[in-house]
Amino acid sequence: MSSQSRLSDIVIIVPVKDEEESIEHFVREFTIRVNAAVANFSFLFVDDGSTDATINVLKRLSVRDPRINYLKLSRNFGKEAAMTAGIDHVHCDAAIIMDVDLQDPPEIIPHFIKYWKQGFDTVYGARATRFDDSYSKRIFAKLFYRAFNVATFIPIPENAGDFRLISGRLIEVLRNLPERNRFMKGLFAWPGFSTIGVPYERPARARGTTKFNIWKLWNFALEGLSSFSTMPLRIWTYIGTGIALLSFFYVIQIIVKWLIFGSTTAGYSSIMCAVLLFGGIQLISIGVLGEYIGRMYIEAKHRPIYVVEEVSQFAHAAFETSLTRVSNGS
Ligand code: UDP
Ligand code: MG
Repeated sequence: MSSQSRLSDIVIIVPVKDEEESIEHFVREFTIRVNAAVANFSFLFVDDGSTDATINVLKRLSVRDPRINYLKLSRNFGKEAAMTAGIDHVHCDAAIIMDVDLQDPPEIIPHFIKYWKQGFDTVYGARATRFDDSYSKRIFAKLFYRAFNVATFIPIPENAGDFRLISGRLIEVLRNLPERNRFMKGLFAWPGFSTIGVPYERPARARGTTKFNIWKLWNFALEGLSSFSTMPLRIWTYIGTGIALLSFFYVIQIIVKWLIFGSTTAGYSSIMCAVLLFGGIQLISIGVLGEYIGRMYIEAKHRPIYVVEEVSQFAHAAFETSLTRVSNGS
């Protein structure tokens, strides 16, 4: 699909949740900061169940400016689902996914396009700093990326967010990935297409407030790990084997002692320790199993990832207008 010679058709996908005060500012800044001569841009805002006036702002802007299009999801499905909705509905040579709060600086987009024209399928914004993030969020992010890269064979760059350009053929692949648990950073990397990062300083949020707290991030991390790796399941095989081996030697030691010294009754504390320790370990391992069974349950229901309630009037050929994503004929 990607045509390198003609003026490119690029859609900017912007998930928004309660961003009434940011959208107009974003469009204005985008237009000023990106040299429009580089490509033909249009916007696809995905309203992810906002409860403020976001949809009214989008309606107003889309009437005024035919480059501005929107999809309104029927409720809040989360940023991953909102991005999926955007990706499912575009029809373009490349798409750029970015936040509305200008933490993803539009001025590096010409670099994205330059690399894309050189043949890269993913060009992501590599965060040089995370000044805006709290210390705990930074540590958490670091640990998560370590764990993810060890547990999966799909390395995702540590300093990448969702801000990226994806090529037409990557969009095509993403559309055909049927899973409901959508950890997009993993999915972007999964096909293994050529990828490059463009470093940038991540500024503070221009307007509004962050929509993510530490609890949301924790759940997000669990989802990311469990949807890309079965290592947490396998770990228990090794732990179990290790403990069984140790127990075997312990039993031999007990038998030998018994043969030499005869019966002894001492050992209340060691029994308690063993019971509590193994009880705990078993509960953890059952929890991990439950985590995967839960994921299987969600996948097995085959519910759509999102539901589109409304699309903008001006949605043109660059957009497809199916209302839900029910993949692979399910
Ligand atoms: N967002 C969304 N759905 C959600 C939460 C956030 O579409 O459930 C959007 C939000 O409007 C913004 C982007 O995702 O455009 C990034 O959110 P935010 O800036 O709050 O995240 P942070 O930069 O703090 O990680
Ligand atoms: Mg932000």
